[in-house]
Order: sequence, then C-alpha cells, then structure tokens
Amino acid sequence: MATLRHSCHVLTAHRALSTQTCSRNSPLRLTNDGKYCSPRIATHGQDGMTTITPANNTPAPLAALPTGVLLRSLFINAISSRPHLLRPAITFMSYLCQPNRSFVFDTNRNKLLAGIMRRAVFRHFCAGESASEVKQTLERFKSMGFRGTIVAYAKETVFDYNRNVVQDAGIETFPRDPADSCPNIERWRDGVMETIDMLGEGDQLAVKITGAGPMVTDALAARGPLPKQMCDAMTTVCEQCKQRHIRLLIDAESQRYQDGIADAGLDLMTRYNRDGHALVYTTYQAYLKSTASVIESHLMAALEGRFTLGLKLVRGAYLSTEKRCLIHDTRNDTDNAYNAIAHGVLRKRLGSLGADGGRPFPSVNLMLCGHNKESVFSSYALHQQRLLQSLPTVPVGFAQLQGMSDEVSFGLLQLGQVQQGSGPEVYKCSTWGTLVECLGYLTRRALENRDAAGRTMSEYKALKREAKRRLRSFIRL
Ligand SMILES: Cc1cc2nc3c(=O)[nH]c(=O)nc-3n(C[C@H](O)[C@H](O)[C@H](O)COP(=O)(O)OP(=O)(O)OC[C@H]3O[C@@H](n4cnc5c(N)ncnc54)[C@H](O)[C@@H]3O)c2cc1C
Repeated sequence: MATLRHSCHVLTAHRALSTQTCSRNSPLRLTNDGKYCSPRIATHGQDGMTTITPANNTPAPLAALPTGVLLRSLFINAISSRPHLLRPAITFMSYLCQPNRSFVFDTNRNKLLAGIMRRAVFRHFCAGESASEVKQTLERFKSMGFRGTIVAYAKETVFDYNRNVVQDAGIETFPRDPADSCPNIERWRDGVMETIDMLGEGDQLAVKITGAGPMVTDALAARGPLPKQMCDAMTTVCEQCKQRHIRLLIDAESQRYQDGIADAGLDLMTRYNRDGHALVYTTYQAYLKSTASVIESHLMAALEGRFTLGLKLVRGAYLSTEKRCLIHDTRNDTDNAYNAIAHGVLRKRLGSLGADGGRPFPSVNLMLCGHNKESVFSSYALHQQRLLQSLPTVPVGFAQLQGMSDEVSFGLLQLGQVQQGSGPEVYKCSTWGTLVECLGYLTRRALENRDAAGRTMSEYKALKREAKRRLRSFIRL
C-alpha cells in the first residue's frame, strides 16, 4: 500500500512534467540501464523495471509560480526559445563582459543600460545585489516549498580558450607583493563570509574559488599550492559552515583552473567530511572526457581516507569557452556520461568500485544539479526503486538554477507535498553580486539555453499553458 501511495506521488509530478514528446497516458519506465520513458505507478516490475502510473487531478507544477515571475519567465523564454532572438542577445551579453567598453556598453557607467539589464535579466536569474535583496529572494523560495537555496557570490575568473583571454569582470588589479596580504583574497573571503551571514535554515553555500583573483588563479592553473592566505580563508569559511550546519559546494569552473579546484576540494573533503556526511562537496562536470576517471580516483581516496565524498554532478557550463577536445564529442555522449555517473553512484557501483568481488563503494552524498528531465526523473525513480527494494543507495538532493526549469523544480516539490514531507530534497541555486560581477554568469545562462534548444522550447510551452490556464480561470470569475 505504502509502495502504491508513494508511486502515485512519483507520477504526480511526472505526469505534469511529461513533454510534447511523451503521451500523457503512456507509461514511465525505468529500465535496468537507467533509461527513463514516461508516466505510470512504481511497482516491482517482473521485467526488472520500475513503472509509474497516472495520478488524478494533479495541479500543474507551475501553478506555484507567482504571476509576476511567470510573466517574466514567459518573456525570457520567448527570447531563449527562438534562435534568431537569442543569438543577438548572446552577442550583446558577451560584449558587455569584455574589458574597456565604451560608455554606451558599460553597465558601470551607463545607468539606463544597467537599469534595463537589472529589470529584464538580473532579477530573473540572480538573488540580488545586497544582503536585504538576497534575503528576500531566499525567503521567497522557502515560502514556495524549497528546502533552501544554494547561494554563490558571483565574483569569478573565466578563461576563454578560443580568444585566449581572461574574463574577470569585478576583480580589481592590485600591485603584487607576496609579503602583503592580497586584497583580492581578502575581498573574496569577506564576500563569502557575507554570503554565509545571509543564509537561513536549509540554505547552502556555493563558492567560486577563482573569484579570489590572479594570485589564486595562477596557482590553480599551475596546479601548485594555493597562497597561504587563501588556504586560511578557505579554512575560515569551512569552520563557519561547520558551525552553522551549512553545506559548502565548491563550483566547477573553466578547465584551465579545474584540476587545481578539484585538488583543493579533495583536500577540504578529506578534512571536513569525517562525520559520516558531507560538509564539503566538489563539483564534477560530466561533459569533460576525464571526469569519470577523476570521480573514480576521488572515490578511491574517500575509501582509503575514510571520508564521505560530497559529489555534486553537473553537465558543465563552459562549453563555449573551453578547449573543445576536452569535452565529449556530442551532446548525447554528455547525457550518457551524466546519467551513467548519477545512476552508478545511486546503485553504489561505479568503475571498479562496488563491483562484485571488487573494492567496496565508499560513503557518498550526491547532489544532482541540472534541468534535464530525463536525468532528474530517471535518477529520482531509481533512488526510490532502490529504497523500496531495500537495495544499497546514497542520500541524494536535487537543485535547479533560479529562473530556469521551474517546471522540473516544482514537479519535484509536488512529490514532497503529496508524500507529506518525505519527498525529494529540492533546492534552487542562485548567485548574488553587483550587476557587473554577475554578467559572466548571466551570459552562461543564455548560452546554456542556446545549447538546450529542445528543453527551452518545452519550458516556454509549459509556461504558456500555465499563463493560459490562469487567464481562463480569471475570465471565469
Ligand atoms: C544547481 C546547479 C549548479 C550548477 N553548478 C555548476 C558548476 O559548479 N559548474 C558548472 O560548470 N556548471 C554548473 N551548472 C550548470 C550545468 O553545468 C549546466 O550547464 C546546466 O545545468 C545545463 O545542463 P543540464 O544538466 O541542465 O542539461 P541540459 O540543459 O539538457 O544540457 C545542456 C548541457 O549539455 C552539454 N552539451 C550541450 N551540447 C553539447 C555538445 N554538443 N557536446 C557535448 N556536450 C554538450 C553542456 O554541458 C550543456 O550545458 C550548475 C547547474 C545547476 C542546475
């Protein structure tokens, strides 16, 4: 009975989430190789599949979206889903990130442009420019039912391989004297500590290590030791997170810096993930060909070092600025890599770890970040299947970015509402900082929508359906 009730809940969200490609009444099936189809109720299928059957009278997931946010989402998605509108928008945004722009294109000096950008884009994707704005955003997400928000301070450095330039809007240049303390590191630490102060119960911290400026990015690129001041700053941040019971998620960034970032993450996980759960998470980008072997080596380190691996999985956001040969050749390969890692960890069997007669699988906490319905819901269904059948699995949370894939986020939340609190752990993830500091982040969101044209169009249609539904009920009043 419990199984049946739970299974109804799985479908509840799923049903509303089925896209144009899935018939509403067609069965959702999770096959042994982790493939996911469309809605039905979870049972222990004879053929080794979990199936999920329809539930009735489920409100649309987007019903939870405030009308103002719905209208802004419609506007953004109307542009994102049309390549002829999105292309010039991306060119414009990318130009705004370049150094030494004329007055007209400088958001620092041109207040009119800054005002338009703030209203049209910034408020949609970012948490705010000040503590009070960010706190309001976090409260809003909590009132919508999210477990919390993962908040990052926007300052970062991106290395563009194609143009061979460093993009570090918002990071100032100071004369370097290794004897002095570096003002960029100091500002990074202050910004991150200020972010921690903004967080409430259930909220988590994300950090971009490259935001600490050139001394740190040079060390990361060389994969050398980080400056002592930076190590001290990271220790201070971790101690504060530990005291406040806030998880710290280290973002993955440009490949030029990523190996160094992964080393720093591993070091912090070794030190802080010793109580049977992960305080610190490292981010792994499934689009990199090397990621599977990096994860396997980190799993091995967790096993030997007896700590919990905090594994935050994303597809990867730097496609347009990376060396193409490092990234999977096709979109399909990235999808397969993401799903193989997510499902492997949920089954506690990845590479040589957890295999019959092989080395045991270490303690892992998983955070699945993404907007891809197939990946999110196949992973959720697999996790539920493993719990129902008392098979080994790991704790898992889900996160989507502010302003993106609300259909997926609210769909996951609906599972929790129907299951009365025992549903999936769902977070929104947001970035705060000044408009200039957030420009790089905003440009990546536009590029991401371009790289996922099918998803963007499906989101736009779902938003339009919700807007029409509200209009109809308003007219009926
Ligand atoms: C909560 C959260 C936190 C995040 N944190 C980070 C982070 O720390 N670091 C980071 O890099 N990203 C991060 N991202 C962004 C993430 O990497 C993706 O860019 C974004 O989520 C889109 O991927 P998706 O999984 O939602 O799936 P989709 O939108 O379905 O897939 C789009 C992705 O597929 C991949 N792709 C597209 N075309 C190709 C191609 N031709 N060849 C190979 N691969 C292709 C790209 O990675 C692209 O972003 C985060 C995302 C979320 C939701």
